[in-house]
Amino acid sequence: MTIILDGKKTAQKIISDISEEVFKLDVKPKLAVIIVGDNPASQIYVKNKEKTAKKIGFDSLIIPFSINTSNDELLKEIDKLNNDKSVNAVLVQLPLPNTLYKQKIIEAIAPEKDVDGFTPYNFGQLVLGYKPYAIPCTPKGIIRLLDEYNIEIEGKVAVVLGRSNIVGKPLSALLRQNNATVINLHSKTSEKNILAFSKQADILVAAIGQPNYVTSEFVKDGAIVIDVGINRVNDKIKGDVDFDNVSKLTSYITPVPGGVGPMTIAMLMENTLELYKLQHK
Ligand code: NDP
Repeated sequence: MTIILDGKKTAQKIISDISEEVFKLDVKPKLAVIIVGDNPASQIYVKNKEKTAKKIGFDSLIIPFSINTSNDELLKEIDKLNNDKSVNAVLVQLPLPNTLYKQKIIEAIAPEKDVDGFTPYNFGQLVLGYKPYAIPCTPKGIIRLLDEYNIEIEGKVAVVLGRSNIVGKPLSALLRQNNATVINLHSKTSEKNILAFSKQADILVAAIGQPNYVTSEFVKDGAIVIDVGINRVNDKIKGDVDFDNVSKLTSYITPVPGGVGPMTIAMLMENTLELYKLQHK
């Protein structure tokens, strides 16, 4: 029988611990979120982040920009937030419209306020095995979820499907730091190799954005499967993993929804509090 890695329950516990800590603070941590345009998924993510931040007792600032905004306008806003002592954490909701220079915009966030851990300083620290100010929320949430269930990472073969800057790359670095042997697959890996490598995984992570892509063919008996995917299919949220069939083989598996998603938000809140503490030291 597989064990469901309950991200929702784990995240609720983390959030309630953070709330208790924040309750005792005189000055509340403040999270600023910049959102550009009206991408429906981004709007939902930002609303959820705001809702959780408020529930915890953080000050939350949402800064909307029109889809026609310029790089300069955004850079000016980020500079303002960097210099505003009342703001502890800054996040730019991705994706940005193609008209904007994403790399330059992310790079403009002060590393000590970079709550997503996406700036070159924080990302570099992570990959080098040094301490970043913040670790990207989704990979951090996955490692925390494994830890909460006492799942040993050291010595395991971890296969990560996807190499995005948000999930696949930082997660591969974190798993490596936790002494897994890591294989990172992507869209240029041949189908034959994707199957062959995935089948060797003790820990298999799917972060590709393709509904039900990982079928039981990919999974060895007793594997731990983490599904990062959030795909909207006929108004329903589907993961990258064919849960019904794959879960017959696994020892542990995350559901979608209720797995990695809530952990991502919980880690965003944890990172906000950590940056606050750093700035109030
Ligand atoms: P991206 O689109 O940025 O990256 C997708 C990655 O998957 C790329 O590296 C791509 O390879 C690779 N890929 C695509 N198709 C295949 C394939 N058939 N076989 C192997 N690799 C493939 O997506 P993200 O990393 O941002 O997100 C991935 C999924 O996770 C999405 O569904 C997203 O919504 C979800 N997500 C969920 C979060 C959560 O909190 N649960 C947080 C963030 C994302 P290449 O590099 O070669 O193009």
